[in-house]
Amino acid sequence: MPNIKCTVTECDYNKSVECHAPMVQVDRSNASTASNSDQTKCETFKPKM
Ligand code: SF4
Repeated sequence: MPNIKCTVTECDYNKSVECHAPMVQVDRSNASTASNSDQTKCETFKPKM
């Protein structure tokens, strides 16, 4: 698993601005074909309890 920097610190997998999930799924967001990063999203996000 490469190091993944992620600033979504409200995610349960985030520790010190890095992702510690065992795998990450990224999908398109509101687009049938993504043409920039705004049209992608992390599906693995889990809110902190
Ligand atoms: S699961 Fe997604 S949102 Fe959560 S820390 Fe990892 S990359 Fe960021």
